[in-house]
Amino acid sequence: MAGLYVHVPFCAQACSYCDFHFTTKLGDRERMVDALIAELKGALPAWRDETFKTLYFGGGTPSVLGAEAILRIANAAFEGAQWALEEWTLEANPEDLGDAEVGRLREIGVDRLSIGVQSFDADVLTWMRRIHSVDRAESAILSAAAAGFEHLSLDLMYGLPTGGADRWSQDLTRACALPVDHLSCYILTAEPRTLYGRQLAAGQAVAPPDDTVVQEYDALCSRTAGAGFAHYEVSNFARAGGRSRHNSAYWNGTPYLGIGPGAHSFRNDTRWWNARSNAAYLKRAESGDFEAQRQSEKLSAVDRYNEALITGLRRIEGVSPADLLQQTGIGIESHANLPNLIKTGACEWVEGRLRIPEKRWPMGDAITMELMG
Ligand code: SF4
Repeated sequence: MAGLYVHVPFCAQACSYCDFHFTTKLGDRERMVDALIAELKGALPAWRDETFKTLYFGGGTPSVLGAEAILRIANAAFEGAQWALEEWTLEANPEDLGDAEVGRLREIGVDRLSIGVQSFDADVLTWMRRIHSVDRAESAILSAAAAGFEHLSLDLMYGLPTGGADRWSQDLTRACALPVDHLSCYILTAEPRTLYGRQLAAGQAVAPPDDTVVQEYDALCSRTAGAGFAHYEVSNFARAGGRSRHNSAYWNGTPYLGIGPGAHSFRNDTRWWNARSNAAYLKRAESGDFEAQRQSEKLSAVDRYNEALITGLRRIEGVSPADLLQQTGIGIESHANLPNLIKTGACEWVEGRLRIPEKRWPMGDAITMELMG
């Protein structure tokens, strides 16, 4: 069983907080589609023993390619490997989701849209430098539902330097009232290379106090629970049947192949990744030599143990000590820091698995560090 991730490195405009790999120069889209197909055709023969179950187009903004280009890439994937497709997700921005486009996306087989809404507040969208309006976001979601998308996820952000807790409360009210079965809600972090990061460094913006962010997190947990969402991962909430299969498989250590600039792959204890440069990627694609721009690393037992903790302790199921021991040869039960973490309530045992309680998830990275090998 495996997953396939396709990275589409284009966005119509750079958001003020975003550090992902993308370019706003859309003129290379056709060349990039050809390159992605070429990389797929070169990579898939080595995966002939695997059955792919999930296909995920991420970015960037994959929806800027349009449904026909998405279909060309997907067809190359379907033709080059064994599939028992359970989920096909496309990340999309509201401005690309008109009635005709969502209808066509559903028709070609996309069955889950992850929509970059971020906020339902017009002033916040302006601060974020998003292109879409609040009305456009809501109409895109309703169009997608009307086109037959049963699996719709919204991306939302909190912990912003603008708007405050009232704004976040209103966002939650609007999101929970929509026909969606998944929410991904992220605390804004200030990355140094972004506009927001530079504004903070120059004293032109002020990050919200920690207690405001905690208040927003508490509101997120209680409001989503009241609207029928289960909090299954630090940032992710799903109604019945709405969990992301692709990401859940990734968190479970399932092998995945990543295609596109900056994309990572993982299989047989080895991770490899493409250069985070469209120019380098396109150059190699056109010379037929993707290997020259790739880097890789072999994970040691300690690396695998640490990775299993990082992904496992972000989930409501936590980690199984028996599985950790079997997969990495390293036991967690005898870790010197564990008794104190249990005593202080930072970790808990539930049905033989170790997890971080939901209340402590915002501090989860620091707690996980305490248990690393
Ligand atoms: S947040 Fe999304 S749309 Fe905005 S720049 Fe980043 S990848 Fe592009």
